Amino acid sequence: MKCFYKISELQEYLQEQHGKSLGFVPTMGALHKGHLQLVEKSLSENDITVVSIFVNPIQFNDPKDYELYPVTIDKDIAKLTEINCDVVFIPDVDEMYPEDYKMDFDFGYLEQVLEGKFRPGHFKGVGKVVFRLFDIVKPDNAYFGKKDYQQLAIIKKMVKDYNLPVNIIPCPTVRENDGLAMSSRNVRLSPEERNIAPEIYKILKYSSLLVKSHTVKEVEDIIKNKINSIKKFNLEYFEIVDAETFKKINQWDETDKPLGCIALFLGSVRLIDNIEYF
Ligand code: AMP
Repeated sequence: MKCFYKISELQEYLQEQHGKSLGFVPTMGALHKGHLQLVEKSLSENDITVVSIFVNPIQFNDPKDYELYPVTIDKDIAKLTEINCDVVFIPDVDEMYPEDYKMDFDFGYLEQVLEGKFRPGHFKGVGKVVFRLFDIVKPDNAYFGKKDYQQLAIIKKMVKDYNLPVNIIPCPTVRENDGLAMSSRNVRLSPEERNIAPEIYKILKYSSLLVKSHTVKEVEDIIKNKINSIKKFNLEYFEIVDAETFKKINQWDETDKPLGCIALFLGSVRLIDNIEYF
């Protein structure tokens, strides 16, 4: 596997691959099977796959979260080598954001609700880094996880608004055997918290059983109560929205793609998850 730290080196290599299809998986590292699933899909659908590892400071609204974000570069490189990934790109902050680089995004409503509301500025940071990475790598296909459903909607909007020549490929959320959505932040859970964490997905799955027989508001209330009954959980939101617009729905027939989205703190670790009711 080729490993590049500089944009110029990466681009020189990619120019030599002219004519080959290019798949791209942007990550912040601390790779787990959720990330590797995206890489494997890209490997199977493209001639060359580039993975980027960059902990993007401007998408962290909480400086403590940035400070504590796990960095495991050597292990990441070993995991990518093992699955025969072609290229890993590991830029530093100066490489990604030279002083004179200005690019600002306004995603409107999409960045004001749910994750956007609780993490002000987060999606502007995501938009900025993904736009920059697309501009550097120029992929044909880019792979994103449904674990971050709202992020996926933001990226799709950016690609549409700016007519970017890239296909966005959504991939399912990969879970631990007990249902907990894999996340780089899971390693920060204490053993006790790790035991409780699978309740999130259990409760989300329970919500899908209620959909047919209850109103949207009833489902939201029941699920919020269930989450709040677990002392260690500190709920930020549980909302049922349209999976593309992220507009809140009041009745099931307002959308054919209802999505339940949740964010909560377990101790000091913020976890998100979601469930498609379609
Ligand atoms: P991150 O490194 O957390 O920024 O994630 C990089 C990419 O991996 C994003 O497209 C995420 O949505 C995706 N991802 C992270 N965790 C999972 C998971 N458990 N299942 C599927 N995709 C994931």
